[in-house]
Formats: sequence, structure tokens, C-alpha cells
Amino acid sequence: MPKAFITGITGQDGSYLAEFLLDQGYEIIGLVRRSSTVNFERIGAIQDRITLVSGDLLDQTSLTQILEQYRPDEVYNLAAQSFVPTSWQQPVFTGEVTALGVTRLLDSIRTIDSGIRFYQASSSEMFGKVREVPQKETTPFYPRSPYGVAKVYGHWITVNYRESYGLHATSGILFNHESPRRGLEFVTRKVTDGVARIKLGLQDRLVMGNLDSRRDWGYAKDYVRAMWMMLQQDEASDYVIATGETHSVEELCRVAFEHADLDWKAHVVQDQRFMRPAEVDLLVGDASKAGQILGWEPKYTFQQLIEMMVDADMKRLQKEIKNNE
Ligand code: GDP
Repeated sequence: MPKAFITGITGQDGSYLAEFLLDQGYEIIGLVRRSSTVNFERIGAIQDRITLVSGDLLDQTSLTQILEQYRPDEVYNLAAQSFVPTSWQQPVFTGEVTALGVTRLLDSIRTIDSGIRFYQASSSEMFGKVREVPQKETTPFYPRSPYGVAKVYGHWITVNYRESYGLHATSGILFNHESPRRGLEFVTRKVTDGVARIKLGLQDRLVMGNLDSRRDWGYAKDYVRAMWMMLQQDEASDYVIATGETHSVEELCRVAFEHADLDWKAHVVQDQRFMRPAEVDLLVGDASKAGQILGWEPKYTFQQLIEMMVDADMKRLQKEIKNNE
């Protein structure tokens, strides 16, 4: 039975990846940070089929001990301080986890078993102020936040350990990917949750930031499949994963509100509070390398994704209201 170690298993991608790998017959070890309030919501349904171990990307010893004890075949590094606005408030912490955490994990792999295959969750935020449209594996980086800068470090240290030590280390450059499990602070989920609340009469307004920025939004479930495909290749490499379509935050609002028969203009207001010190204006990816080499392609369109998320938030909130009655 192949064994996978996943950091960030309690997050959106970690939970979908764990489910996908269980279906493929893997044994799953997941890293959780010790705290009095760990959020097991996303992995509740599979918790009895996986092993959770305590450790931290800030603590090298914990990583080395886990690898020594469990000897996984594959390591997926999905843990990070992943919210862009927080990275301006906590730039050093973001660097410790999102950047140096990658080195800690890679170096533990190098010392314990250099045959372990490694996946690094890299991000389209590395392209930032884009140098080329669409963005592909060879597009130069120009990050626009401490988060983006930390992810550039994580990408290059992954490439460097591959080239220095011959590790099977892969950097997956994933464009924004969403789902009903996306954190409520990210824009897609903030909007779909807001639409559901407005529809159900729980609130009337949705306070937003920049409506002009454009993203290439895909479905997280499609994207975790790509992570696994990358590690099944004989040679490690780097891949862009994207839909190739770009949509503005305004379009996102329109599609989500329309799905609930609401007019977005009657409810959305803008506030400086949600504007960023530096913005990434446009992201759109070219995933043709992943198409050719991995045979990967996305199955969900933007519209299907957003409508699915609105439906899921409606269902969840209706259930909550019923339970409170
Ligand atoms: P990011 O691409 O990793 O930063 O993902 P987000 O979902 O946090 O943000 C995507 C885009 O939506 C960014 O350009 C934000 O500036 C924009 N945006 C506009 N209003 C909001 C908001 O209220 N919350 C968030 N998170 N983003 C917003």
C-alpha cells in the first residue's frame, strides 16, 4: 500500500487530496499543529481512515521524526500561511512557514530518504505583476505580497533540491482553486456565502474590496488530481495548473447573485478596508504542459463552480437555521 504524508491536511486542498488518495488505495498520514481548537470540519468524514500526527513546519525535529517513523513514499506540502492580506500583517511568520518551512521539509527528506517524492504547493501569486499573458512555467515571477515572495522562495528551493541532490521534487504552480470548502475569507467563498445569507434574509449588504481584479478560478477537486499525477511521472518537473479563463471579481458577484435571482448592484458595496497595499490585477494560466505530459484537464467551468458553491452555502445555512429553531 503506497503511503502519503500530507501537510495542511485540515485545509481545502489537503482534505480533497486525502479523499482522492484514499480512493487510489493509499495510506494517509496528515500533519496537524497542536492547538486546543484544531478544525477537523473538512476531514470529519475520513478521520477514522487516516492517521493524524502532531508537528509543525516551524519545527524541523518534528518533521524528521515523522518521516523516520512513517517512511512515506510521497510528501505533499500543502501547509502555509495562505491568506494574502495576512501576509502584510505577519510578514516574518509568513516567511517562516510558507518559505522556510519548505526547506525544513526538503532537508528532512534528504536526510531520511532521498527516494521520497515531494510536491510543493506553489502559487500563481508568484506571477503577481504579470510579465506575460497567459502565464506558463517559464514566465518570470514578480510577486506583489509577502505571501507571493515566500512562495517564490518555496518554488526555487524545491527546484534547487531537485538539482542539488537529485530529489524527485515537483513544484505545482496552481492558479486560484475554489470549492464549498474554501475558507470564508477568500473572495469566491465570501461572495457565495454572502449571497446565501442575503437570500435567506440574514444580511443585506456585502462589503467588498477591488472588483476589477481578474483571476483564473478552477475547482479544487480537479486540481488535487493534478498534484498526484505530477508525482507519478518518472522525472520530476514543474507544472502550471489553470483553466485558461479569466474573470473579474465583478463577474464573480454577478454570476453568484444571479444564481439566487438577486441583483448584485443592490447589495454589494466597496470599502477601502478590503483593498490591498499592492494588487495582482490579472491572472490567467496556460496549462498546456500539464495537458500534454500529464493528460490533465479541468472538468468544471467557472459558472458551474460558482453555482455549486452558492448551492452548498444555501444548503448549509438552511440547515443551520433549522437546527437553531
Ligand atoms: P488571492 O488571489 O490568493 O489573493 O485570493 P483572494 O480570493 O483572497 O482574492 C482574489 C482577488 O479578489 C484579489 O485581487 C482581491 O483584491 C479581490 N477582492 C476584492 N474584494 C475582496 C474581498 O472582500 N476579500 C478578498 N479576499 N478578496 C477580495
